[in-house]
Amino acid sequence: MRRLRNVKIVATLGPASNDYQMIRALFEAGADVFRLNMSHGSHEEIRERHAIIRQIEADTERPIAILADLQGPKLRCGVFAGDSEELLEGQKFRFDLDETPGDASRVCLPHQEIFQALKPGSTLLVNDGKIRVSVDACGEDFADCTVVVGGTISNRKGVNVPDVVLPVAALSEKDRRDLEFVCDLGVDWLALSFVQRPEDVLEARELAQERAAILSKIEKPAAVDAFAEILRVSDGIMVARGDLGVELPVHAVPPIQKRLIRGCRAAAKPVIVATQMLESMIESPVPTRAEVSDVAAAIYEGTDAVMLSAESAAGDFPIEAVTTMHNVAVEIESDPTYRSVIEASRGASHRGVAGGIVAAAREIAETADIKAICCFTHSGTTASLTARERPRVPIIALTPFAETARRLSLQWGVNCYLSGDVDRFKMAVVSAARAARKGEFASEGDQIVVTAGVPFNVPGTTNILRVAPCDERLIFTADPE
Ligand code: PGA
Ligand code: MN
Repeated sequence: MRRLRNVKIVATLGPASNDYQMIRALFEAGADVFRLNMSHGSHEEIRERHAIIRQIEADTERPIAILADLQGPKLRCGVFAGDSEELLEGQKFRFDLDETPGDASRVCLPHQEIFQALKPGSTLLVNDGKIRVSVDACGEDFADCTVVVGGTISNRKGVNVPDVVLPVAALSEKDRRDLEFVCDLGVDWLALSFVQRPEDVLEARELAQERAAILSKIEKPAAVDAFAEILRVSDGIMVARGDLGVELPVHAVPPIQKRLIRGCRAAAKPVIVATQMLESMIESPVPTRAEVSDVAAAIYEGTDAVMLSAESAAGDFPIEAVTTMHNVAVEIESDPTYRSVIEASRGASHRGVAGGIVAAAREIAETADIKAICCFTHSGTTASLTARERPRVPIIALTPFAETARRLSLQWGVNCYLSGDVDRFKMAVVSAARAARKGEFASEGDQIVVTAGVPFNVPGTTNILRVAPCDERLIFTADPE
């Protein structure tokens, strides 16, 4: 099964998408990566969905990435005696550590660290940013505030503290349990919520022990400021526009999205644009014009992947949402303006042998009549470098490792195949030609470009490029080795 687009689609699973039939239908409609949201669903439910995805992978013989999204240090207020209260603009309101149910004048905020980090003038946001309060005075166990924007506050609503770096652990106890559970289960990507500093990423990396690649969600102003350092220690990035648009003014999000996408491409690491992409499709079978333009804009900007959250997890039209993203991607990618924008933003630096080879592979493939660039990759790095080139011809990544193939499913344009054990270059060419034919990228009379590292079992050695026929008899007669 060949996808006729390069940008990838991430679909979040949930109550609307938890059986084999639906998940398979989402995969066939175009979902390349499935996201398991650890904020919802029991371990048992996560285990079931995971098993279904692996079953679909086996049934379709296509690698599928599973991304487990850890909840992170999400702050919540306590409960109210009457379940909710109305906060009015200009009124005083206190947050404290007292667990007695709240009323119209106070509520518990059971996170001691917040009180230590707050300063007079700091802002607290409640309920997805709908309520805004400003801190007048604070101490070790309280913050006296004035309501700037009022609204309804109710039991355990989320609280955001945008303008201070919180001295909270990057991973809560729940996150640590979830991390161990999903790593044990076997997921390909681990997404970290509310990352604030590079150390947060390193902490998770230490716990994951290479069992999953690490994707940092950029949803705090502090993470935007420290983006370069966070990117350096991450394997991928999510532009988590939901919380980002709460912690910062919504109009600050589009330029950040552009900057993050550029930074990720320069680093050859995948980036996902997430949240509210097709929000109205939770309830409607058709998107709004604005949503279609938003998905299109992310693709024009060069994102690796676009994501569905509630649209596929809890909405009435999960398949239609995936199909919409697919159709938008196919349309944009065939637009000559897309090609010219993507090529103009390629960046000229090719450091090292591998960088030079992937650039050469693209150039040859685009100048001659070549049907695919086939790269042999252990860690996935060569495939990522090839994807960064954004070639016009399809990229086929061949790897002996299922983990690498799955992780690469998130990356722009990469079609992954398992290569089996290859120890000679001629065998590599044969298996590349087979993959190209099997995936319907090429047929007998066509030519492909093959890149690989020789000797074969040393990772990180891409050092060979060959233009090869797809016809196996020709490979054997043309090639002495
Ligand atoms: P969430 O992350 O859906 O886990 O909150 C995405 C976002 O904040 O945009
Ligand atoms: Mn978020």
